[in-house]
Amino acid sequence: MSDLKKRASAHVDEIVAQLIGVSSEIYAHPELKFEEVFAARLLADKLRAAGFDVEVGSAGMETAISAVHPAVSDGPTVAILGEYDALPEIGHACGHNLIAAAGLGAALAVGAVKDSLPGKLIFFGTPGEEGGGGKVKMVEAGLFEGVDAAMMFHPSSDTVLDRTSLAITEVEIEFAGKPAHASGSPEKGINALDAVIQTFNGLNALRQHIKDGARIHGIITDGGAKPNIVPEHAAALFYVRALQNEYRDELLEKLRACAQGAALATGATLAFNIVGHSYKAMRPNHALGDAFVSNLATLGEPLDPPPPGSGMGSTDMGDVSQAVPSIHAYIRICDRDIAGHSREFAQASISERGQDVMLTAAKALAMTAIDVLASPDLVVRMHEEFESAN
Ligand SMILES: [Zn+2]
Repeated sequence: MSDLKKRASAHVDEIVAQLIGVSSEIYAHPELKFEEVFAARLLADKLRAAGFDVEVGSAGMETAISAVHPAVSDGPTVAILGEYDALPEIGHACGHNLIAAAGLGAALAVGAVKDSLPGKLIFFGTPGEEGGGGKVKMVEAGLFEGVDAAMMFHPSSDTVLDRTSLAITEVEIEFAGKPAHASGSPEKGINALDAVIQTFNGLNALRQHIKDGARIHGIITDGGAKPNIVPEHAAALFYVRALQNEYRDELLEKLRACAQGAALATGATLAFNIVGHSYKAMRPNHALGDAFVSNLATLGEPLDPPPPGSGMGSTDMGDVSQAVPSIHAYIRICDRDIAGHSREFAQASISERGQDVMLTAAKALAMTAIDVLASPDLVVRMHEEFESAN
C-alpha cells in the first residue's frame, strides 16, 4: 500500500468514533427524501470542521451538500458521494446512514493527505435517493461537470461491484368515469375502477413477452369511494424498469397502450402522467471499479460470486454514471437471504458488522480516490472506457 493510502487509512482509524457517531445519529433520526435537515447539518458541520468549503442547498435542494477541499491544483477531480434519506415506516432499511458516514470518512481521509496530491476533492451530499432523484437534479445543475470520477458505496447482502441497476420511470394512470347508483342505475355509469383493472389485465398479458430484466409493477391508489357508487375516479401508480433506458421507454409506450385499450373498452377517460422519479440505468466504469476492488481486497474484503438474477433495483447514481465515470459498489453487511428495504436490513445497518463495513468502505473509497488523483494513467483509462461506450 502506498504511503498516502496508509496515511488516509490511518486517518479513518483515528476518527472511528466520529464516523460511528454520524452513522448512529443519522440512523436514530430517520428523515424522508428532501427532509434530511438533521443529516445534512451533521455532515456539513463535520466537513467544515475539517476545513472543507461547504455549500448546503446545492442544485436548489435545501439538504444537498457540495463540499470542496481547499487544496485545489491542476489535475483530476474526484467526487465522493453520500446519501442519507430514509424510508417511510421502516427508517434506515436501505442503510443510507452507513453510506453517509463512509462517504464522509473517505472525504476526511483523502482531505488529510490532499496537500500531497494534485487535483480537486469534492464531497457531494445527495438527498432524496428514495424516489426523489437528488442526483438527477445535481447532474442537471451541472455539478458533475469537470468531475473525472464519482464514487460511492452502498450496503448490501452481497459484496459486488456492479450489481444491475435498472432504468426506471414512475407513471401515474388516472381514469375519469361517470358516477351512478351501482345497483339502481348501473347502465348510466362509467366505471373508472374497471379501467384500472383492465390496465392491469392488459399488462399481465404483456408480461410474457417482455425482455428478461424488465420489471413493471404497480399499485391501485384510488379505487372509488363506496360499492354503491360506480367509481368516478380511479388511479394506479406503476414503476417501469428495464436494463436499458431505451427499452424502458419502449415499455412505457406498451403500458400506455394497455391503458388506452382499457379506456376504449370501458369508456373512461385516461390521463397518463409521468410523475416522480425517472432514473437511468447504471453504467459502472470498470477501470475505476478494478481500482476499488483491488483496494477492497487489500483491506481483506473480497468480492462475492455474482448473485444470480437478484439485485435489480434502481438508483439515481445511474444518472451520474451516464454523465461521468462512476462506481456504485456494494459491500455485504448481512446474510444473503436478507432483503433490502426490510426491517432485518435496518437492523444490519446499525449492527457492529454494518459499522465495520462502513469503515472499510471509507478506507476503500479514500484509497480509490487517491488512485485517481495520483495516477494520470488511470484517469486516461477511465475516460477512454467512458467515451468508447458513449
Ligand atoms: Zn439505497
